Amino acid sequence: MPPGLEADYFDGRSARAIRVSLRVENGMLRIVGDALDLSVPVASIDWPERRSRGVRMAHLKGGGSLHCSSGVAWDAWARDQGLGDSLVVRAQQSWRLAVGAIAALIAVCAAFYLWGVPVAARVIVRLVPPGVDARVGEIVLDTLRDQEIVAPSAIEWEQQERIRTAFAAAVGRTWPPGDRPALHLRFYESALGANALALPGGTIIVTDDMVRLLADREDVMLGVLAHEIGHVRERHSMRALVQVSLLGAVAGLAYGDYSAVLAGVPAVLGQMAYSRDFERRADDESIRLLRANGISPEVMAMLFQRLQAESHRRAKEAKHFDLGIALASHPADEERMRRFQAAAHEGSMAR
Ligand SMILES: [Zn+2]
Repeated sequence: MPPGLEADYFDGRSARAIRVSLRVENGMLRIVGDALDLSVPVASIDWPERRSRGVRMAHLKGGGSLHCSSGVAWDAWARDQGLGDSLVVRAQQSWRLAVGAIAALIAVCAAFYLWGVPVAARVIVRLVPPGVDARVGEIVLDTLRDQEIVAPSAIEWEQQERIRTAFAAAVGRTWPPGDRPALHLRFYESALGANALALPGGTIIVTDDMVRLLADREDVMLGVLAHEIGHVRERHSMRALVQVSLLGAVAGLAYGDYSAVLAGVPAVLGQMAYSRDFERRADDESIRLLRANGISPEVMAMLFQRLQAESHRRAKEAKHFDLGIALASHPADEERMRRFQAAAHEGSMAR
């Protein structure tokens, strides 16, 4: 058996030091000295923090204490006995570690925000039966109607039918029968301006302003609708809803009583950050449909140019909305336009 550590024991009542030998046995600290033999649970002892030099003092429950004049000897013994400093103590001792811990915490939060929430949302949505989407979509549409964000369309039925027929034919040329998305196109007059949105369940809403904006460009309209099909196929609106709910729940935990005020902030930020990836995926489906129908993806530049002009006009009228595909003033639009143009050039090289 290795020799114990020599230390002084004070009983907490008298100032008399008793020379003792310390040893750890089965989770107990054994303190043996002149007419003294104590066994104390290691976990109950207030162990000293490790400093660079000096006296080490450990406090026992009930007032006793142990003193060792050699810090080096104490540390070596503590290490041998497996009494390493707890991580917290070590972190307190080292600024570098403390700063590292904060950086790691920020990294974990950022990773959770950027990847954790979207991955969790994707997993959750995968567990939700697709039938639920349609019900959620109906609720969203009812809300849009109740809040008068959409109203009955002023577009003539013949024009609506022309768009429906052209789109159905284009979809038929793009996806094989087994993989073909169901189509529910609905037209509404809307305060959202020129816009198209995909509701959970697959209903695609096209605003009258969008129909007017692209009245002479059926090819561009097909690209817009195919973009919405992309959102439908990947259940983006359901995922966005789950993401917002998750972020709201996390913010609620983090901010406690203030959740009602603050929960919406990260939720809104989150949705903006995610939508970029979703937009890219949806644009891919748009490119796919345009190519399958012999239309150059480059025609989509027309959409962004017209939306931009529309957005400037509406900004002047001070009733500006940015939602759905119509993120005209969004800098990401430049990136999206370049993607359509690049796809057009890839396409012409392949042919
Ligand atoms: Zn979109």
